[in-house]
Amino acid sequence: MKFGIDIGHNCPPDTGARGIKFEDNLTLDVGNRVIAKLKALGHQVVECKPARASSVSESLRKRCATANANKVDTFVSIHFNAFNRQANGTEVFAVSDTGRRIAKPVLDEIVKLGFFNRGVKNGSHLFVLKNTDMPAILVEGCFVDSQKDMNLYNPEAMANAIVKGLTGQLPSTPVNPIEDEEQNPDTTTLRFQKALNRLKITDKNGKPLVENGTNDATTKSAIEKFQSITGIQQTGIAGDTTWNAINQILAKRIIRVNHAGGVVVRYLQYRLGVDIDGIYGPQTEAAMKKFQQQNGLTADGIVGPATWQKLIG
Ligand SMILES: [Zn+2]
Repeated sequence: MKFGIDIGHNCPPDTGARGIKFEDNLTLDVGNRVIAKLKALGHQVVECKPARASSVSESLRKRCATANANKVDTFVSIHFNAFNRQANGTEVFAVSDTGRRIAKPVLDEIVKLGFFNRGVKNGSHLFVLKNTDMPAILVEGCFVDSQKDMNLYNPEAMANAIVKGLTGQLPSTPVNPIEDEEQNPDTTTLRFQKALNRLKITDKNGKPLVENGTNDATTKSAIEKFQSITGIQQTGIAGDTTWNAINQILAKRIIRVNHAGGVVVRYLQYRLGVDIDGIYGPQTEAAMKKFQQQNGLTADGIVGPATWQKLIG
C-alpha cells in the first residue's frame, strides 16, 4: 500500500490547537511514528506536510497536491482536537463509503486505548478530504485541552493504534517489548503466564503461575480472574481484548484522582484491595496513598513511574 501521511499543521501560519498540550507537537510526534511504522511494515509512505506555505489555504492545497501527484492509495491526515476542556475522545472524519471503511478500524483501535468513541463523522466540510482524489480520512486523535485525554495520551500507543487500524498489521515498534512476540502463537501461553506473574495475578489457589507454556486449568483460572478484574468477558482464553488490557496496564500511564481509567484503574483497585468500579475516587486514592506510604514513596495518590515500578516492576 502507498499511504499519504499528512502531519497536521506544523507549517506556520498553519498552526494547530493549543490546550494542555500543543496540537502541533502531538501531530508531529504521532505522525513521525506512524510514518516509521508503516515503512517498517513494508508500505510506501508519501509525506504530505509542506515545508512552507504563506497561508493556511496554501498549506492545505499543497498537502492535497502532494497526495494527488503521487497517486497514493489512501490519504491520512493526523490532527488533535480542542474545544471546551470538557469534550474528550476520538473521532475520525471521512467522506466516501470507502473512506468510512478505512476510518472505522482506525477509530476502533484508538478507542481501545481508553478514549471516548465519538464515531466516524462526515468530513465533507474538510478541505483535505474534499480535495484529495483517493479515499481519505482525517483522524482527531483526542482533545489537547482535556485533562482526561491528556492523561491517557501516549504517542507510541496512538501511533500503533493508527497503523494497526490502517493495515490490520501489528506495528513493529510496540508500546512494550511483550507485544512484538504476539504474532508467534507458540509462545503465547508462556508470555501470558509471565505477564500475569508480573501483574501479580495468581491462580485460583492464590499461587503464582508456573511458567511452562502450557494452557492448563490453573492458567485458565488466572486468565478468567484477570478478565473479571479488568471487566472484560470471562472466556479463559487470552485473545486480543485480554492482551489489550494487559498492554494498557504495562504502558504505566500516569493515573490521577478523578480519572475514569477503566481497565487500568480496575487493576489498581484489585491491587489495593478496594471496590473495583474503574473510577479513581476518594476510596481508591486513600488506599493508594497508604500503599505509597508503606513502600517509601511520596504519598500523593498520583500513580507515576515510581509507584508503577513498585506495583509491576
Ligand atoms: Zn488540527
